[in-house]
Amino acid sequence: MEQFDVLVIGAGLAGCAAAYEAARAGSQVVLAERGSRPGTKTVSGGLLYTHGLREMFPDFWKEEPCPVERAITRNVVSFLTPTQAASLDFFDAAFGAPPFNAFSVLRSRLDPWLAAKAEAAGATPVYGAKVDALLKEKDRVIGIRSGTDELGATVVIDAEGANAWTSRQGGQQPEADPGTVGVGVKQVIGLPSGEIERRFQLRGMEGTQLTTVGLPAGVEGGAFLYTNRDTLSLGMILNMRSLVEHGIQFSEALEEFKQHPWIQRFLEGGNLLEYSGCFVTEGGLGQLPPLYGPGYLLAGAAAGLFLNTGFTLRGMDFALESGRIAGRVAAEAVRAKDPSSSFLARYAQQLEQSFVLRQLRTYRDYPTTFANPRLYGLYPEILTSLLHRAYFIDGSDREHLRQLLKESHRGKASLLTLGRDLWKAMRTL
Ligand SMILES: Cc1cc2nc3c(=O)[nH]c(=O)nc-3n(C[C@H](O)[C@H](O)[C@H](O)COP(=O)(O)OP(=O)(O)OC[C@H]3O[C@@H](n4cnc5c(N)ncnc54)[C@H](O)[C@@H]3O)c2cc1C
Repeated sequence: MEQFDVLVIGAGLAGCAAAYEAARAGSQVVLAERGSRPGTKTVSGGLLYTHGLREMFPDFWKEEPCPVERAITRNVVSFLTPTQAASLDFFDAAFGAPPFNAFSVLRSRLDPWLAAKAEAAGATPVYGAKVDALLKEKDRVIGIRSGTDELGATVVIDAEGANAWTSRQGGQQPEADPGTVGVGVKQVIGLPSGEIERRFQLRGMEGTQLTTVGLPAGVEGGAFLYTNRDTLSLGMILNMRSLVEHGIQFSEALEEFKQHPWIQRFLEGGNLLEYSGCFVTEGGLGQLPPLYGPGYLLAGAAAGLFLNTGFTLRGMDFALESGRIAGRVAAEAVRAKDPSSSFLARYAQQLEQSFVLRQLRTYRDYPTTFANPRLYGLYPEILTSLLHRAYFIDGSDREHLRQLLKESHRGKASLLTLGRDLWKAMRTL
């Protein structure tokens, strides 16, 4: 069996970052990707908070080819009912200047760019290589099997994304809890750049992220619409259990979102260019699998590192940072000739100190707080009903705002329930 220092499963963001760091630190690295090239199998809405990538490539946005799309200056959250939208719309010019807070990205561009960095650092990419199983000696992972090929490694870094099929099969982590699994779909819609700028009121390379809550009513989850250079990224992440409970098909939910009068205006005349889907694990800190074991490390979405607060979706910056740390620790283990659990525990220790686990700790209550159907049906309805009453003028005496507020929630939710949910959401966020 051919032997390497570090073997990375998956050339997504976590895998490429891990391969880059380990190769830079002098390890002999193989990066195995099932797709024919990086970015062909990855699914992401595509809003990247830049700090993780800047850590490795401080001026990445100046590079040619440029791996990112638009600098996000406008953040909009809309609460929807079938015909209404109540939005919080935040523009910040500072987000459009270096070092840039967030960019929209297309993974078909970003992943090959990052994989090329790993290759330039000395890693050997192997594309079209699906890893079928982990090879083990007692409880230690000693390599991988792909088809009939077996490759050995001192450390295997599993960065295969949220399905984490290889490590679940190998017993490195349990099956995902269906209650905390989200189903995500994403479409890329082509539209001329000038049209995107006009529709979203953008200047030059500014971009918008629009996220929504409330469609389909009561189903836990939300939708997103991001502007790229000459495409839009549109999609949804919905909780699987909640979808089943409401008896709604995902395709119906997506169509309802696209046909919404507030959303439709942004999409008109666009061409559907891509359609993809994927699972996400939204169990948060309480459901993280063991992050390391003898001979292996888990990074990125394969380790369940994902956070959705409704305002921000974070998986890519977590993937980059966890991959970076995993690559560094794997190279140290190679140098020390010690892939034992006790040595690799420094991966979890460093991740604890990084923003990844600190953020998951801060938002540890989010899976339970957001598993509340009122947030996805009743509250958008109360909010839009209040605003409708406040703006609708027909010559009759308009009630005082306090009275309007009372009428908006009368018979729907008690003040106690409203107050309790609000308090819980504030505490979580
Ligand atoms: C609909 C949707 C919208 C999202 N929106 C955002 C967002 O706006 N912002 C954000 O930060 N995060 C977002 N996320 C989350 C984000 O996409 C993930 O957290 C991130 O992509 C994880 O990166 P990763 O490198 O760990 O895994 P992935 O990006 O999934 O990469 C895994 C790689 O491993 C490869 N692979 C899988 N199995 C094997 C195998 N057996 N052998 C070889 N290769 C294999 C895959 O082909 C892939 O290239 C979204 C997710 C979804 C589903």
